Amino acid sequence: MTEQLSELSFDEMYRIYSSNNEAFNGLFFMCVKTTKIYCSSSCKAKLPYRKNVEFVFEKGHAIIKGYRGCKRCRSEFYPNTEPDWFKPVKTYLIENMFTKIREEELEKIGNVNISTIRRYFKHYLLETPSSYHRKKQLKHAYRRINKGEDYRNILFEYGYESVSGFRTAFHKEFGHNVGLINGK
Ligand SMILES: [Zn+2]
Repeated sequence: MTEQLSELSFDEMYRIYSSNNEAFNGLFFMCVKTTKIYCSSSCKAKLPYRKNVEFVFEKGHAIIKGYRGCKRCRSEFYPNTEPDWFKPVKTYLIENMFTKIREEELEKIGNVNISTIRRYFKHYLLETPSSYHRKKQLKHAYRRINKGEDYRNILFEYGYESVSGFRTAFHKEFGHNVGLINGK
């Protein structure tokens, strides 16, 4: 793959980058000399002048040259090497809508230390496992409310103890009041 890619010219890579093409994420990196940042091909940051960029095919080469990962496209996470424990943990968080998430449980499921789980979630998903879970719960509740259920009857199932607590969380997540969905 690398050999084949190394036949890509500067112009081709510059063009791929300027079209934010995700398909090339992790296959080459654009290093911006002025900011000392390296980007993935899908990055939405402002396109730098041609004279200010160079391309590398290995992330390691960018790092050796003194470039840092881009906060915007999170280039340091490409190629995306998802750890083995991530999928079972994520599945657990998605499938257990009515369970209060316990960290010991996540450790058991992933067979990995909770600090590793937290660190990965924070870097990769920009949140904690429990906030990830809460968002999934709210989406789940949203779908039920949208089908006609009264939120006051179901909020306890998701571990909310008060109507106002649920309303606040809902508004924070979706940007509008829960009462607006089905008029209840
Ligand atoms: Zn970037």
